[in-house]
Amino acid sequence: MTKEKVIIIGSGPAGLTAALYAARADLRPLVISGNQLGGQVSITSEVENYPGFPNGTTGPGLVEEMQKQAERFGTRVLIDEVIEADFRSGPPFHLKTHGDSFEAEGVIIASGSSPRRLGVPGEDQLIGRGVSFCATCDGFFFRGKDVVVVGGGDSALEEGLFLTKFATRVRLIHRRNELRAGETLKKRAAANEKVSYIWDSVVEEVRGNGKVEGVRIKNLKSGEQAELATDGVFIFIGHYPNSDLFKGQLTMDDHGYLIADKLMMTNVPGVFAAGEIQDPVYRQVATSVGQGCAAAMSLERWLAARE
Ligand code: NAP
Repeated sequence: MTKEKVIIIGSGPAGLTAALYAARADLRPLVISGNQLGGQVSITSEVENYPGFPNGTTGPGLVEEMQKQAERFGTRVLIDEVIEADFRSGPPFHLKTHGDSFEAEGVIIASGSSPRRLGVPGEDQLIGRGVSFCATCDGFFFRGKDVVVVGGGDSALEEGLFLTKFATRVRLIHRRNELRAGETLKKRAAANEKVSYIWDSVVEEVRGNGKVEGVRIKNLKSGEQAELATDGVFIFIGHYPNSDLFKGQLTMDDHGYLIADKLMMTNVPGVFAAGEIQDPVYRQVATSVGQGCAAAMSLERWLAARE
C-alpha cells in the first residue's frame, strides 16, 4: 500500500494541468496514466485551436510538453491503470491499479472518454485489421488504399482529412445529410478532391476475412442497402465517459458523465473531476486544461482547510 497526498487519475490535458498546478503547490502529485498516456489528444493528428500555437501543433507533441512541464515541478507519472476505486469511506481514499494499491488524501479524476463503437457485426473482430478509431495511429498503413470514415462531426472530418495524405479516396458515411462539423473543417473537406460523402446512411456490417474488405450500408431514407468495397473503416461517432469504476459512488448524469460543482468537486468531498469525464459539452483541450487547473486549485484549498 503506497500512501500519497494527491492522486490524479488520467494523463490527458486535464490530468497533466491538474498535476502541474498541484506540483507547484508542493503536493507532489502522482498521475496514474490510464491505458493511453496523454489521453485522447495523444492520438489526434493536428491541434489547431489550442492557443499559443499559431501554426498548430501535434497532439502527441502537445501532451509530451505538458507532461515535461508537470514533471519539472515534482509530478510523478505512473504508467498503470486504476482498476478499483473506493470513495465510500475516507479520506484517505483507496485506489488499486494492476500493480499496486494506494491511499490518497485527495483525488482528481481526469479519466476522460473513449471512442464509441458502432456495435455492428464485424467491427470488433476486425479492429486492428482495417477497423480503426485513430487516423494518426493507423493512417500510414493505408497508403494507396481506399478508406471510409463513419461520422459527421469535427473528428470525422479532421481525421478524414488527415487520411487523405495516405489514402487514394476517403468516403465519409454520415447518418444525416448535414454535417455536425464546424465551418473551417467543412471548407477544407470541400476543397479536398479525395473526400466525398455518402449521406443519410449507416454502416450495418463490416465485412472481411482476416482484414477489412468492405462494408454493408443502408440508406435510412430509401431503405436501400449497398455493399462498398474498401480497405479501411475509421469510426468517429463520439465518445463515452470512462466512469464505470465510479458507478454507485459518484453522482453522474444519464450518460455516465460525472457531476461536479463550480469548484470541480464531485458529491464526495476531496474527490474532484476535470476534463471530459465531467464535460459532455465543450470537450476541447483548452477547456480541459482550464478545468484541470481549477480542480487542482480547489483540491489544494480543500486540503489546506482540513489541515
Ligand atoms: P460529435 O461531435 O459528437 O459527432 C459525432 C458524429 O457521429 C455525429 O455526426 C453523429 O451524427 C455521428 N454519430 C453518433 N452516433 C452514431 C451512430 N451510432 N452511427 C452513426 N453515426 C453516429 O463527436 P466528435 O466529432 O468526436 O467531436 C467531439 C467534440 O470534440 C466536439 O465538441 C467537437 O467540436 C470536438 N472536436 C473539435 C475538433 C476541432 O475543433 N478541430 C476536432 C475534433 C473534435 P449526428 O450529427 O447525426 O448526431
